Amino acid sequence: MAEKSDLMDKIVSLCKRRGFVFPGSEIYGGMANSWDYGPLGVELKNNIKQAWWKRFVQQRDDMVGIDAALIMNPKVWQASGHLANFTDPLVECKKCHSRFRADNIDTMAACQSCGEKLGFTEAKMFNLMFKTFIGPAEEQTNVAYFRPETAQAMFVDFKNVLDTSRKQLPFGIAQQGKAFRNEITPGNFIFRTREFEQMEIEYFIRPPQKDEDWNEFFEHWRAEMKAWITEVLGLKWEHIHELEVPKDELAHYSKRTIDFEYHFPFGVSELYGLAYRTDFDLKNHSEASGQKLEYMDPQTNEKFIPHCIEPTWGVDRSVLAVLCEAFDDSNPENVVLHLPAKLAPYKVAVFPLLKNKEQLVAKARSIYAELRKHFTVAWDDRGNVGKRYYSQDEIGTPFCITVDFDTIEKDGTVTVRDRDTKEQPRVKVEDLVAYLSQKLA
Ligand code: ATP
Repeated sequence: MAEKSDLMDKIVSLCKRRGFVFPGSEIYGGMANSWDYGPLGVELKNNIKQAWWKRFVQQRDDMVGIDAALIMNPKVWQASGHLANFTDPLVECKKCHSRFRADNIDTMAACQSCGEKLGFTEAKMFNLMFKTFIGPAEEQTNVAYFRPETAQAMFVDFKNVLDTSRKQLPFGIAQQGKAFRNEITPGNFIFRTREFEQMEIEYFIRPPQKDEDWNEFFEHWRAEMKAWITEVLGLKWEHIHELEVPKDELAHYSKRTIDFEYHFPFGVSELYGLAYRTDFDLKNHSEASGQKLEYMDPQTNEKFIPHCIEPTWGVDRSVLAVLCEAFDDSNPENVVLHLPAKLAPYKVAVFPLLKNKEQLVAKARSIYAELRKHFTVAWDDRGNVGKRYYSQDEIGTPFCITVDFDTIEKDGTVTVRDRDTKEQPRVKVEDLVAYLSQKLA
């Protein structure tokens, strides 16, 4: 990792320059705290989402996925407690009227915005949900909300999922998708935005008789999250802090929460969360909807409302943590993103040694076409090979293949240059797919 102080600036600049993340609506002067993923960013983000879906949904017997509507019946948010409780305390500077989250600032100190010490208003609770209207009439009866989390759909769809998938406890429902929060203090690039993506699991268990019963599943998911962080994202465990959220700060639905915090360049901040939500949500939705959201034990025919463990991952914070961890400018001439190979936007780049030698270009083109059947591949014939290496290093491409005169005149081999070791073994063209598949596995 580079020096913390300017690391964020460097990452933001690389993201813009190389097409990972752009400021949103930039040609109109931008829009504060809105960001668009560019061609490389969307690959990186999708690779994270696909790795997650494969690992936690497709490769598990005890999991199914859903993809629910963003705008749900407002009664959902009534029953979930979001309308009443999903609030942050908001204070306003008496001089410049800038607004801050009361729990984030020292209200006795000078305003961060105008520097004056006139003081702040009393804290007012501010609901974070985005309101909209369904249909043409902007009336109270038509009010609806963009979902502030993906989680509620898993509870609302619980019965349909159970009836159609015939899963037995314990089992989980997973979802990935956008969530919206009218954050008072968005910022730190893609760390806190008003529109973001989540990957969430609601894992249903029998009502526990004693604490050990739910703790076992809680610890299972804690270990799964640790494995994801270290094995898939490639974050060093010493860059993570597990915060046991104190009882008096727990969300209204939670009996226990652990926040997985990452050492971001701007400070140690939440990456993911893990909560024991008890039967709070299914119970409330049962009562509010009048539908029995129960499970029937197939052996005993006993009926009950399951309890729930919720591991939750932010997609954008995953992208940011991966970029922070991978960024290496120890040689400022040759910035390298040491991305885990599975997450890299391009797995391999192909170059002809010289762009004006037709035979080299034709051979390189045919290798490029063949490799694209198996991997995401970049093509580059600009400048010299050294510059192309640097350019690929900066976007995290694990391997670069150069087609030279030996390839066509001598032994049918190419150089395969490794981003991290800088080694350049020669590999036979016909062995490339097998060679790369093994290296990228
Ligand atoms: P914070 O304390 O940072 O506001 P939170 O505890 O409210 O986060 P959760 O409700 O637990 O967050 O949401 C689950 C995950 O969604 C978080 O761990 C985070 O990765 C992501 N997330 C939440 N809010 C945002 C946001 N405004 N922008 C980007 N990601 C977010």
